[in-house]
Amino acid sequence: MSNTVTLIPGDGIGPDITDATVRILEAAGADITWDTHLAGVAAVDTFHTPLPTETLESIRTTHIALKGPLTTPIGTGFRSINVALRKEFDLYANVRPARTLKSGGRYEDIDLVLIRENTEGLYVGVEHYIGMGDDPRAAAESVMIITRYGAERIVRYAFDYAVRNGRSKVTLAHKANILKFTQGLFLEAGRRIAEEYAGRVEFEDRIIDATAMHLVLNPYQFDVLVMENMFGDILSDLMAGLVGGLGMAPGGNIGRDAAIFEPVHGSAPDLVGKGIANPTAMLLAGCMMLDHLGQTETSNRVMTALVSALRAGETITPDLGGSASTQAFADEVVRRLDQTG
Ligand code: NAD
Repeated sequence: MSNTVTLIPGDGIGPDITDATVRILEAAGADITWDTHLAGVAAVDTFHTPLPTETLESIRTTHIALKGPLTTPIGTGFRSINVALRKEFDLYANVRPARTLKSGGRYEDIDLVLIRENTEGLYVGVEHYIGMGDDPRAAAESVMIITRYGAERIVRYAFDYAVRNGRSKVTLAHKANILKFTQGLFLEAGRRIAEEYAGRVEFEDRIIDATAMHLVLNPYQFDVLVMENMFGDILSDLMAGLVGGLGMAPGGNIGRDAAIFEPVHGSAPDLVGKGIANPTAMLLAGCMMLDHLGQTETSNRVMTALVSALRAGETITPDLGGSASTQAFADEVVRRLDQTG
């Protein structure tokens, strides 16, 4: 696999957390050549589009990107640049790990992974208003689209992920009791795929609302979770909340031919120019990217130094209760990299 990675610093705090992340990955000895490109608001002035052809061409060539948060400009016709990227490269699996890195949160030792279908469901954006009388917006309709193909490939991805990572159980969460057709198809396809892994990975299916409650009451009963797009969007944020919030949450968007890794949080306009954004989620996304490239040893080194810096708690950013700048935190992680050899 080539080691050239498309780097998209992004908007708002994106460039700050990207600088910090690149510095740490390079200090850890990551074998990567960066091909840096613009997207989002940062691209509009130069390219008159938030998603320039040059950026897409780079990802088409490298097949892998590390991306900062992108501000979705209002009024340019893009519903969301992130959704457009997922569609362009058919990045059907959104992988969202939730791991306790710093104790003192609601729970200790959480280690969960949510696999979210990233291309179907209500987020296909098929929606319209229905006019009645003199009210053109008297009603609105959104269409949830689930295909057998899409459901099977995401559940298969979840099982393959479990096998690859030595995980023991996959929970499929759904609402087939009410949405008999769409959610029913997702469940039916999931149960069929689960049979192929019988004896290797345990399988259970649960209703989505009960799953949300059980995740909060006792998250330890779960391992890998798989669900359709919107349920996954919501529950993955809930899971981020179990381990300290969005600042600690990375995500991978994986397709057959390309993968894009990113922090889950947005461009944090309120922190721009202050130099105090927490680069942890971006760095964790960088570690997922290293794993994807097969550079697991380097990824593990970065994780060890990161966890050690977070647990020491002396040089951490304000969102975690400290007073350190983004750069000071990055320096601290680099220092700990050096200590661990
Ligand atoms: P946000 O995630 O940017 O901010 C929410 C809150 O979390 C803010 O208080 C912010 O200061 C804080 N926060 C976020 N990241 C942080 C970090 N690394 N360190 C410390 N604090 C952090 O969400 P928002 O304000 O709703 O969205 C701002 C913009 O980002 C919008 O244009 C939105 O469309 C975009 N967005 C992009 C992505 C993405 O690119 N993946 C995801 C979500 C939102």
